[in-house]
Amino acid sequence: MNNPLASKHLPSSVTVVEVGPRDGLQGERSLPIASKIEFINQLSRAGLTHIESGAFVAKHRVPQMADSKQVLQGISRQLGVRYSALTPNRQGLEAAIESQVSEVAVFTSASEGFCQRNIHCSVEASLARFEDVIALASQYHIPVRGYLSCVIDCPYDGATLPDKVAQLSQTMLEMGCYQVSLGDTIGTATPHRIATMLEAVLNIADPDAIAVHFHDTYGQALANIYQALTMGIHVIDSSTAGLGGCPYAKGAAGNVATEDVLYLCHGLGITTGVSLDNVVSAAWYICGQLNKLPSSKVSLAFKRN
Ligand code: MG
Repeated sequence: MNNPLASKHLPSSVTVVEVGPRDGLQGERSLPIASKIEFINQLSRAGLTHIESGAFVAKHRVPQMADSKQVLQGISRQLGVRYSALTPNRQGLEAAIESQVSEVAVFTSASEGFCQRNIHCSVEASLARFEDVIALASQYHIPVRGYLSCVIDCPYDGATLPDKVAQLSQTMLEMGCYQVSLGDTIGTATPHRIATMLEAVLNIADPDAIAVHFHDTYGQALANIYQALTMGIHVIDSSTAGLGGCPYAKGAAGNVATEDVLYLCHGLGITTGVSLDNVVSAAWYICGQLNKLPSSKVSLAFKRN
């Protein structure tokens, strides 16, 4: 649009959905509540408008998220920021509502093998569980986002058919998800495979209703995001410092780092409304708490300069 750098094939602006405090931290060692609150506050001050801040799931399955209620109650809420949480069932949703979330997310997989091991039911049964969550959320006017994992490959079933991804995306949208986030959960995708998958999905869905959630296991996440941007996708999930992975997907090294996505977008002339400097600061803060280095190349380069 009014952007000499962004070609007509790229969006003029991108919304970054920050998943570090949930998807990221659930794959790391447990942190004190105060550290999580400070992390989320730093992220909202950086200009991120959508921060996935916790999960209301079985505590014995994901102990890192057991304190999500206290975290959501302790943050300094900024106007215009959506603080969301993962809610796999009605019980989780009720706890999330008590914690005053602005949005919730449900999840399933495009592959049976991953669904069985991660959610302990068939894909069809997982969709049936959504119905209850979506119905109650709509009573409270809480938007529901859908995650669809293993859209490229599954660690158990191999390659996922693009038509299967399209069909499930359509089902989730028809059920009431306002957006479906497509996950390359084990990070094996390359851009042409992303293009084939997205072509199938965009045959049935508007690009506004689709987000991408890529992992950087093989270093391809930014190339894959670029591919998605050229196809009209303008909502990108990412995790500050590249935190996370997936306990059920062996070898899934981590989410693409928010800093790296911001550097790519800003370099392409795409606006995000997010301060890269402030996200880098948040990355170094949270990695200090975890006693590790960021996996983001941008954060490492900033520290050296
Ligand atoms: Mg992830």
